[in-house]
Amino acid sequence: MQTNNTRALIFGISGQDGAYLAELLLSRGIEVHGTSRDIETSDFLSLRTLGINDKVKLHSVMLTDFRNVITVLKSVRPRYIYNLAAQSSVMLSFDQPVETIDSIMHGTINLMEAIRFLDLDARFYNACSSECFGNTDQPATDMTRFRPRSPYAVGKAAAFWAVANYREAYGLFACSGILFNHESPLRPLRYVTQKIVRGAMDIAEGQMSTLELGNLDLSRDWGWAPEYVDAMRRMLEFERPEDFVIATGTTNSLKDFVATSFSAFGLDWTRHVRTSNVYRRPTDIQVSCGNPEKARRLLGWKATLHMRQVVERLVVAERERRLTHC
Ligand code: NAP
Repeated sequence: MQTNNTRALIFGISGQDGAYLAELLLSRGIEVHGTSRDIETSDFLSLRTLGINDKVKLHSVMLTDFRNVITVLKSVRPRYIYNLAAQSSVMLSFDQPVETIDSIMHGTINLMEAIRFLDLDARFYNACSSECFGNTDQPATDMTRFRPRSPYAVGKAAAFWAVANYREAYGLFACSGILFNHESPLRPLRYVTQKIVRGAMDIAEGQMSTLELGNLDLSRDWGWAPEYVDAMRRMLEFERPEDFVIATGTTNSLKDFVATSFSAFGLDWTRHVRTSNVYRRPTDIQVSCGNPEKARRLLGWKATLHMRQVVERLVVAERERRLTHC
């Protein structure tokens, strides 16, 4: 089935990445369609924050419902398909392992089967995660072995291999972006980066005195979400389907992230942060670092914002958010 070359369909458009990706594609003249499980009940806060909610066409889709998936692909006929929809919290995946793995794996297989069933001339992006690697003693590439340490990562690893298999077995233009953590003001509060920045500001404003966090002895590679969605676009516009690691290439400890955030408000974090086992995961990743060299070489993509700049931007955005809500 022929597709429209200037049309994209983003599954999970209401999330952080979906909203930034929609904004980027619209700015490039692409007609953007997006899905949410129920467009009548979703508030599309991320799309509204970016001021693009009335520029995209929305569809209610449950990715686990094959009929629903076929119907939306048949009516939209998109050239570019981005699958960002899934339960995306690592912490929550320990409490909801079946829902998490099902949302990731079932949705990915349904989409690729629907592309095959309709013989759709489309390019497919799968949102994979650095969580698949587990602990990394060397910066990870797309060839690094997976050692998942959460139900979320188990699901993402399974979906990654399903995509590789469909590419090989059926010649689909299907690829996975193995993205390391990327942040923005659109992250919900349950994510630790938002919790830290908002907590530091609450303390600076005298609204609270202590912030409780989990394990601080871990390291991550944090990037800026709007830059990462550009890597997704480049993957689908590349001459052939390949998997890519997307990271800044620099790793910082969570303590550094906390210290940088608190010092932005003139605070010494050691006086205000307590750790609690309540926020500890049954298994966690101590060190996570990525090697984005392949993306630089083949896609011309490179992160320009690293941890310190990410924190600076989160702080500016939080200040603005509070001013507009005054
Ligand atoms: P997000 O903000 O949580 O957005 C994901 C979207 O998926 C939600 O807006 C939601 O849309 C939908 N969703 C949530 N639970 C679902 C479920 N159980 N079944 C089906 N759909 C569900 O995530 P994001 O940060 O934009 O990330 C996008 C994708 O990249 C996710 O698959 C995530 O796992 C992956 N990823 C993210 C990062 C990161 O650092 N942000 C890193 C690596 C990989 P509705 O409620 O509107 O249906």
